[in-house]
Amino acid sequence: MVNANSDGCLESPSGFLNMMENREASGSEPLRIRAHHLLCMQGFQGLGYSEEFTKNMALITDKLLNDSTFLLEIVTEADSICQHCPHLVGDRCDQEHPSGKISSMDLQVLKNLKIKSGTLISSREALSLTKNLHPRVVKKICGDCLWRDNCLYYQEKCPL
Ligand code: SF4
Repeated sequence: MVNANSDGCLESPSGFLNMMENREASGSEPLRIRAHHLLCMQGFQGLGYSEEFTKNMALITDKLLNDSTFLLEIVTEADSICQHCPHLVGDRCDQEHPSGKISSMDLQVLKNLKIKSGTLISSREALSLTKNLHPRVVKKICGDCLWRDNCLYYQEKCPL
């Protein structure tokens, strides 16, 4: 893992595809992913905030799960998934208020994975690190997230 600053934001699902082609051509461009989305992607079952959101999320999740060399830059602000979310207002998530709960989830994931914002990580490393999170930690990170009942990652870690 190395630290770096890079802008891998996407503008549209087709932008995602173009970006993937460019990344594959250069072999170096990481995709910006906010830390708590590492868990969300593993729990994703095709549900989301809008059709555009789920389409983009499905594309990114597929890369995470099926391309072990897929390179991610872990961040604590709006990422490539947020870019297609109706909750993104400007460059901020409107679900942050009033508690700052979204960025709090990001910070808790960083702390427990022992990585910093800006870390570059392969999808293989991301899956390996998050696999080792203790159920107690996952319960705390996910808190009262409204997607818990539909999240495969949460259900596997914290079965009823
Ligand atoms: S709800 Fe917020 S953090 Fe989640 S994808 Fe949408 S903009 Fe990003």
